[in-house]
Amino acid sequence: MEDYILISTLNDFIFCPYSIYLHNIYMGGDENLVHAKPQKQGKAAHETIDEKKYSSRKSEITGLAVYSSEFGLMGKIDLYKGDEKTLIERKYQLKNIYRGQIYQLWAQYFCMLEMGYEVNNIAFYEISQNKTHPVEIPTDIDKLELQEFIQRFRSYDPTQPIIVNINKCTHCIYCNLCDKTTAENGYS
Ligand code: SF4
Repeated sequence: MEDYILISTLNDFIFCPYSIYLHNIYMGGDENLVHAKPQKQGKAAHETIDEKKYSSRKSEITGLAVYSSEFGLMGKIDLYKGDEKTLIERKYQLKNIYRGQIYQLWAQYFCMLEMGYEVNNIAFYEISQNKTHPVEIPTDIDKLELQEFIQRFRSYDPTQPIIVNINKCTHCIYCNLCDKTTAENGYS
């Protein structure tokens, strides 16, 4: 599965491809130094899922590893409610839902279908607001959009110059570690 793309990197690629490089570089470092506040909140949001403490209901599956050979994707889902056939991705905070986050959910959805699960609903669950944000099931056109995006990801040339967008940098969790900018992020 070495050619498979991690679903969790889809949103990072849209935000800034260089952030994927930084993530891989610093992923084994001291978490208190490396992780900015949003990342710590996001990690905490997934901890109960990763440790499979979220639900003891038999109909609910948490932390399931998923993959798709059609898309060349692999990753993990947060929660699948078998009774409702609903796939849920938990986020600590969702002020906006970005296209990359939608791609992540679509990717999980297509993986689950390929693995034989029935999925009738997909949604984000915003922990800080205790709120569910339903997302439309992807159409054939959406599927094509995701496939084209994955193709762009695969054909990305890491030697090409990074386009630095200072507005993004100041909201980037890797900003204080990034050699492409002298900006600082606003996270403590
Ligand atoms: S700080 Fe800016 S250039 Fe560096 S990874 Fe983040 S968004 Fe990209």
